Amino acid sequence: MRRPATLICALALTLIGAVALAQDLPLRAPVAGDKEFKLAANKKKAVNKKRARKRRAKRRRSRKKTTKPAGPAAKVLFGAAKSPAPMAARAIGFYAKGCLAGAAPLPVDGPAWQAMRLSRNRNWGHPKLIALIERLATEAKKYDGWPGLLVGDISQPRGGPMLTGHASHQVGLDADIWLTPMPDKRLSKKEREKLSATSMLAKDRVSVNPKVWTDAHVRLLKRAASYAAVERIFVHPAIKKALCEAVPKDGDRRWLRKMRAYWGHHYHFHVRIACPNGSSNCEAQPAPPDDDGCGKTLKHWLALVKRPPKPKKPRPARRPLTMAQLPRDCRAVLSSGPDAPKLPHAAAAASTAPKSGKKTVGGK
Ligand SMILES: [Zn+2]
Repeated sequence: MRRPATLICALALTLIGAVALAQDLPLRAPVAGDKEFKLAANKKKAVNKKRARKRRAKRRRSRKKTTKPAGPAAKVLFGAAKSPAPMAARAIGFYAKGCLAGAAPLPVDGPAWQAMRLSRNRNWGHPKLIALIERLATEAKKYDGWPGLLVGDISQPRGGPMLTGHASHQVGLDADIWLTPMPDKRLSKKEREKLSATSMLAKDRVSVNPKVWTDAHVRLLKRAASYAAVERIFVHPAIKKALCEAVPKDGDRRWLRKMRAYWGHHYHFHVRIACPNGSSNCEAQPAPPDDDGCGKTLKHWLALVKRPPKPKKPRPARRPLTMAQLPRDCRAVLSSGPDAPKLPHAAAAASTAPKSGKKTVGGK
């Protein structure tokens, strides 16, 4: 005789079979090609899509939470500083996220240079950078047949983000120097605002224009790269190519590794020095690669600049940096001395806000 449990099981199975037959349902698992299989796969896809959408929305929400700015934009506050912070000279933070204590001015006129765009008040830098610019100007005039430097933006009196232009130049270790030779006269204030720099590019955008590019440019750039403190010099890829071609294969090519191809930079070159001694909160950038950068990297850059950029969809503007996102010491830099810029109430409150834990980002 069958046991009651076995009987119940047999009955249940018969019942399920009968119901399935009545509803015309399959008694086996769906296999590829079945209508049911396709339906199940579509359902699974829809569920996965929904889950992915949810995950993306969650990520967006958490990103918003972590980067929500506190207080006014730091560029407004640093842009209002008219004089340097009377403190020991120190570059604080990263080239694109920091500030500068104890800045020195580049005199607007020197024996071999003239500062341009004086209305911007950006002829300030770490004293080591200012000394280096003055040295480059005088040595290039003496030895390289370069008549003198026209110096563009360095940093604001207390460094920091700027209201217009650069992402970097924040810690007083970056300087833009025109590729236009200095004219043989002292420029007026007005001329320093109006005079346009000369582009070195030929029409093809991948080579220099021989009508304006000279051997003296090569000598000037080589001299700038020869200083130990200089870590990088940014130039347009066409200029990098001209430099690579100007140095013989068996010649001294070591300095070429410091010449870094980058967008723009065909009207001026951008000198960046390493973190100076005594700037303990200065965040260094990894050294450039060991090779001369005249191979694959340059080829890639030339391909990038050869074709005109496709019109891009306008991206939402980046949120400007706030005081809470800059190194803590930048608050003291901003508020020190009798000439400290008058901060609105909200800004003063933000300057005492707790420091954000976000990691510094790179930039040029
Ligand atoms: Zn620059």
